[in-house]
Amino acid sequence: MEIKPKILLIYTGGTIGMRRDAGGTLVPFDFSAMYEEIPSLRRLEVDIEVLTMTPIDSSNVMPSRWVELAEIIRDNYARFDGFVVLHGTDTMSYTAAALSFMLENLAKPVILTGSQIPMGILRTDGRENLITALEIAGAQRDGRPIISEVALYFQNRLFRGNRTTKRSAEELSAFYSYNYPPLAEVGVNISYNHTAISKPTEYSDNLQIATTLSDGVVVIKLFPGISESILRAILSVEGLKGVVLETYGSGNAPTSEWFIKVLEEAINRGIIVINVTQCAGGSVAMDLYETGVGLRSIGVVSGHDMTTEAAVTKLMYLLGGNRPNEECRAALEYPIRGEFTPEGVA
Ligand code: ASP
Repeated sequence: MEIKPKILLIYTGGTIGMRRDAGGTLVPFDFSAMYEEIPSLRRLEVDIEVLTMTPIDSSNVMPSRWVELAEIIRDNYARFDGFVVLHGTDTMSYTAAALSFMLENLAKPVILTGSQIPMGILRTDGRENLITALEIAGAQRDGRPIISEVALYFQNRLFRGNRTTKRSAEELSAFYSYNYPPLAEVGVNISYNHTAISKPTEYSDNLQIATTLSDGVVVIKLFPGISESILRAILSVEGLKGVVLETYGSGNAPTSEWFIKVLEEAINRGIIVINVTQCAGGSVAMDLYETGVGLRSIGVVSGHDMTTEAAVTKLMYLLGGNRPNEECRAALEYPIRGEFTPEGVA
């Protein structure tokens, strides 16, 4: 008898888990009774076990939730071939990026998905997202999983988790990866983009996870008129360790003396400042304009084409690990989980 891949389905909350009760109110869906609700799931070539966390709206997700999830995956790692995480869409890209860093030697699929329309509504996108995510999590080639990284599946596309952004609160195609190609596209068949999929360096049944994340991180989005006193106040907050600076275009910021000085003083106090662009697509290139060169010269680190979600969670991960400041800065210079495209690579 053929052994089917074993998948752990972890339900965390969000719209996908909602159905209408007899009175028409949206109530949580019982995923442990999933086969009764979606009988076609039985036809999938995977064995599914369900684990339900306390369901929450993903706007309430905190790093402690990521730690809980990482621990669940670690504790079940040897017993399962893959993991599907059902998550609210609002912060799914943050959770995907955080897990990509926290699951340090991951060699099995962790696929996040959710839906824009509740599972209990006839026109739901949740059923297709769930079924395909399960199929992808169980997909193997030569006895190894095809996907062995944290990925996000939504509306016919599988993306690298730490490259995604929620781009629409309305369209069913809610997520996109602007700077990295999809890992798979789903039509009549599932077409995997094998050259884009990361290959693990080792296969072990012991998953190493990081469980301490820094809470000393902030995002500062530039806008014309940002005030010196407010910027100075933010950068002087006690406990601040890392700043994701969302700059204009290809990494540009004002050249005013006060602006550069305030940032430089923070960097000299040991605060790490990483430059990501406010644009959805494209990369920071701090040597292109005078407005970027100024930032580089004071020690602002380039975030290349990283999303804000990836930059925030990478900083939380690196700064939470008791690493010396220099080591954190060095780890920001290269992609540790494929989260950015290094210069010179198309
Ligand atoms: N507010 C919901 C959440 O993120 C939205 C959704 O799931 O689509 O949990």
